[in-house]
This record gives sequence, C-alpha cells and structure tokens, in this order.
Amino acid sequence: MSNQETLLEIYKRLLEYFGHRNWWPGETTWEIMVGAILTQNVSWSNVEKAINNLKETGLLELEAIYRAPEAEIAQLIRPTRYYNMKAKKLKALAGYLMDKYGGDLERFFDKPLEELREELLAIWGIGPETADSILLYAGGKATFVVDAYTKRIFHRLGIFPIQVSYEEMRGFFMKHLPSDVALFNDYHAQIVALGHHICQNKPCCSECPLESLGKCTKLINGHKEQRIIK
Ligand code: SF4
Repeated sequence: MSNQETLLEIYKRLLEYFGHRNWWPGETTWEIMVGAILTQNVSWSNVEKAINNLKETGLLELEAIYRAPEAEIAQLIRPTRYYNMKAKKLKALAGYLMDKYGGDLERFFDKPLEELREELLAIWGIGPETADSILLYAGGKATFVVDAYTKRIFHRLGIFPIQVSYEEMRGFFMKHLPSDVALFNDYHAQIVALGHHICQNKPCCSECPLESLGKCTKLINGHKEQRIIK
C-alpha cells in the first residue's frame, strides 16, 4: 500500500469504529480559539467548566478578555491546569487580534494558511499544536493537527520513528492525504479517540480497529524495550 492508501485505510477503520466525532465543540469562532488554548494538558470536561465560568461572567468575548485583568481570567479558568499561564496566553492572543485586526476574526482568517500560522506562532505561548488547532477548527484551514497520541499511535504502527518532530509528523499527513478540511478535522479527532480509549500507555490491542492491519509494533508487558513486529 502507498502511504496515502495506508493513511486512508487507517481513517476508514477508525471512522467505522468510532463514528464521526463532530469536532470542535464551540458556539463561536472565538470560543473554539479559547478552547484550543485551555485544552492543553487537561481533560475536555475541565475545559467546559472554565468556558462556562467565562460565559456566565460575560468574559467569553474577544474584547472582554482583552480588557479584563489577567488575574480575573486566571480565577475563572482555574478548572484547567496551569491556569495562570493559560490566562497569560489568552491575553496575548486577544491583545494581538485586537491591536492588529481590531478584533475582526473574519479579516484575520482571510489570510493564507502559512502566513497565519507564522503570525500565530509568533504570539507568546502559542505552540504548533495550538496554532494548528486554531487554524483548522476555528479558521477552517487545511492544516493537520498532531499531538502526543498521534506520535504514540503512528510509532507503534511502525510509521514514525521514536524521534520525530511535530513538523515532520504534520508534513507527513499533509503530503500524503488529500488537502481536505473535513478529513483533517475528523482524522485528528479519530486519533484522539483511539489514543484516549484504546491505544493508551498500556494498549488494548484486542479491541483496536487497527490491530489486523498487521503493522503494529506491540508492547509486551508494558516494557518498551521488549517489542515485536507483527
Ligand atoms: S493495535 Fe495496539 S498498539 Fe497498535 S494502534 Fe491499536 S492499540 Fe495501539
């Protein structure tokens, strides 16, 4: 199978198993951007609590976050971990969008993908995973989001070496998959579902829809050194 056929076969199996994931939850573009920052290193249920706190106090608006004191935002997003840092990131993003675009997100997302990506990556605290999540899920741009689950699963599948950078992984998906926003959207969501429910630290291979692909590098008794190739 070519790389494209392999990637599409993996997606087909995940889609059949989990169903369409309907990402990303959020009523507005800005809410999705806020969620992309808050979700780092924390479960989505905690992000929802933080987003509800912001909503209830009228602070789930770009301009409101721009004007609110950082300490107040930090208290409201306390259910997410590293809330002081995340409050600082929200202020940095809101500040950039207000100062450069007058808070007009349509104008911001009107630019080409790579230009926008560079702008986001230059904002304090925005790393590639957050930038790509914002671009794909809030902006509808065809960029592929990768994360720790992607690295773990595709390494176990024998597709990525253990040492692989974010940009190498993103580049691989973008090179071998058709450039399709809907596909990129759901593919990442499927990977998260597999990593969260099945391909955990200790994988449940017998339940995995990818098991019969016959490419997996399995762990034995959780010892990384003791691997077999199926
Ligand atoms: S077969 Fe096992 S190791 Fe491979 S992707 Fe599935 S759960 Fe992970």
